[in-house]
Amino acid sequence: QLTTGLETAWNKLRGVDVLSKENIAEPMRDIRRALLEADVSLPVVRRFVQSVSDQAVGAGVIRGVRPDQQLVKIVHDDLVKLMGGEVSELVFAKSGPTVILLAGLQGVGKTTVCAKLAFYLKKLGKSCMLVAADVYRPAAIDQLKILGEKIDVPVYAEGVDVKPAEIAKHGLEEAKKKSINVVIVDTAGRLQIDKSMMDELKEVKQALNPTEVLLVVDAMTGQEAAALVTTFNIEIGITGAILTKLDGDSRGGAALSVKEVSGKPIKLVGRGERMEDLEPFYPDRMAGRVLGMGDVLSFVEKAQEVMRQEDAEELQKKIMSAKFDFNDFLKQTRAVAQMGSVSRVIGMIPGMGKVTPAQIREAEKNLNIMEAMINVMTPEEREQPELLAESAARRKRIATESGKTEQQVSQLVAQLFQMRVRMKNLLGVMQGGSIPALSN
Ligand code: GDP
Ligand code: MG
Repeated sequence: QLTTGLETAWNKLRGVDVLSKENIAEPMRDIRRALLEADVSLPVVRRFVQSVSDQAVGAGVIRGVRPDQQLVKIVHDDLVKLMGGEVSELVFAKSGPTVILLAGLQGVGKTTVCAKLAFYLKKLGKSCMLVAADVYRPAAIDQLKILGEKIDVPVYAEGVDVKPAEIAKHGLEEAKKKSINVVIVDTAGRLQIDKSMMDELKEVKQALNPTEVLLVVDAMTGQEAAALVTTFNIEIGITGAILTKLDGDSRGGAALSVKEVSGKPIKLVGRGERMEDLEPFYPDRMAGRVLGMGDVLSFVEKAQEVMRQEDAEELQKKIMSAKFDFNDFLKQTRAVAQMGSVSRVIGMIPGMGKVTPAQIREAEKNLNIMEAMINVMTPEEREQPELLAESAARRKRIATESGKTEQQVSQLVAQLFQMRVRMKNLLGVMQGGSIPALSN
């Protein structure tokens, strides 16, 4: 795993005073290996490692900065640069409908992205229309229609015997008539790049003159990503990419190659099958993830989106003052449940590895158990968890009323205090907090 590989590399630098060609050699070898294992293509890895080494050796050690941290910074910044530096916004047409053409191999998530993108743009106040230009399987058209219905966005479709370029043209005319802001065109993919697919895409592109041509890339693509992106870019000309299935086991190798080989940025990422699982692509977060810092910012942002804003502020204040109580705990666990899969959230927490389905079921079961116990607490007990830490009698009562064991209640109380500490650390408040021992 990339993350693990990099962590090992950093540990080797601890205790070293100055970065030199010699002492970074081994960490750099680790980085190189980790990137290759993450399926970043070899030329990209070579250039990256060279660039990082040159900068690391050239730079004097900044006073007060540990050498390993300095190397982290150089690698991080270079990774960010490699992935385009900043967020690349979608481009909208100055007049008339914005046309977004989606291209990519079969099964990468194009049709799903169509709907997710419309859902995303609707939230920004844009009216959308989907166009079904994948005519090879009737099921593909139905799939788009069903998704369109789900998000309440019109879908333009014709029969399977009409040429995709014709459908695209008619769809655009229809959108103009209805003053639709954004037209998103779904196209057919193949398992591999072939000439008929490219020719068809060229025709569709010519018929539409799209504002954006986005290549949808599965994050699992790996080594072939570089060649894939290059070919699509040369053949049809892309304006950017969308990286899907980032919720899976993928190590993000494809993300490192896209900009490097095409000069075009990744604009959005898909993190799941639900309509809300589409986000802007943040190069710095991706770099953080690659470096093993976890996707902390995404996690915090997602949590805040689910909780109401004032709740979040309130919570932050409480965390800062170590007042985080069982009411907040309940809100938190519910917010997590609302975020959809527990696995995704766990995956975003730094230091947590891959989770198995059994672990997810376990986590969900635990949430229910916790809720049952919190439900029978008195208002004071919820607000002052110390009461429970101090009184075995109270814990016993909660156990009896909720039908759980005293041990489970004790665990819950301990967990809350641990959470206070962890959340404070997450926010960078390092004064820490103490975990009171349970008294009898
Ligand atoms: P297409 O052939 O490119 O149109 O791909 P589809 O949109 O039909 O998606 C193929 C499969 O991938 C479907 O089962 C989708 O639900 C799934 N899928 C799409 N995007 C994501 C994603 O971001 N994460 C996960 N886990 N699955 C996805
Ligand atoms: Mg499809």
